[in-house]
Amino acid sequence: MGARSIQRTIAAVRTLEGAGFVVRRPFPVQGLQQVDPFLLLDEMGPTDLRPGEARGAPDHPHRGFETVSYILEGALEHQDSVGNRGRLGPGDVQWMTAGSGVVHSEMPAEEMVARGGRMHGFQVWVNLPRADKMMRPRYQDVPASRIPTAVSADGKVTVKVIAGEALGKAAVIDTRIPIQYLHFILQEGAEVRQPVPAGHTACIYVFEGRGVVGEDRKMVQDGDLALLRDDGDHVLVRNESHKRVQFLLLSAQPLKEPMVRHGPFVMNTWDEVEQAFHDFQSGRMGRIG
Ligand code: FE
Repeated sequence: MGARSIQRTIAAVRTLEGAGFVVRRPFPVQGLQQVDPFLLLDEMGPTDLRPGEARGAPDHPHRGFETVSYILEGALEHQDSVGNRGRLGPGDVQWMTAGSGVVHSEMPAEEMVARGGRMHGFQVWVNLPRADKMMRPRYQDVPASRIPTAVSADGKVTVKVIAGEALGKAAVIDTRIPIQYLHFILQEGAEVRQPVPAGHTACIYVFEGRGVVGEDRKMVQDGDLALLRDDGDHVLVRNESHKRVQFLLLSAQPLKEPMVRHGPFVMNTWDEVEQAFHDFQSGRMGRIG
């Protein structure tokens, strides 16, 4: 089998999130509600914040899915109703399985608010299969030093393995269903062929430079999400430019279950979403502090 081809390309939309921070969001957008099981992809920044300008997402609940935060620059502080409290810096990953429900806050670190600074990172929402939607909340906080990094033999491809496996390195993060979450950095002249199982959804999101995808060499550039067809056993990306290209590759076994999303709750039926609102309002998801 050959390389997967591009089904469609979506240019990320700039939007405001939380208490007012700018994100680039390739999905959900009109016409692309999800890339099953991925529900959302947000790129925070990169922005240079002035003192007092940093904004976050104060106390809010989640139920029925997972939120994955990956910081490239700057720092976030998080706190939740289960008693966790921590800080995410450059290269750190937090894979939070909200399951039956948590209330948490995600705020820029104090010194970012006070002194300003550069903020850049990603948040991905991953849906949970019906059987896991009400599981106990689970946290996987993985510092940058424990995120496996692999480099190709020619030194031109670097990959950070957040979930799944690439260039012979396996992730330390455990996922409920088979998922690949890979951060690739391709130098000039680099080529990568990343295996993706048949039947799995796959997309790449470029956030620096430009690359060409597939045997027909379709160009994708900064801010583009390329949704791939299920017509090959690997994803092929080349850097034919004179600058490096950076992208995320997300791939997973689709759930193919009914998805009902309302705000911070993602369930299989409206009744379950209503129940989630009720449980949150009556304090059954806990509170912070
Ligand atoms: Fe959140």
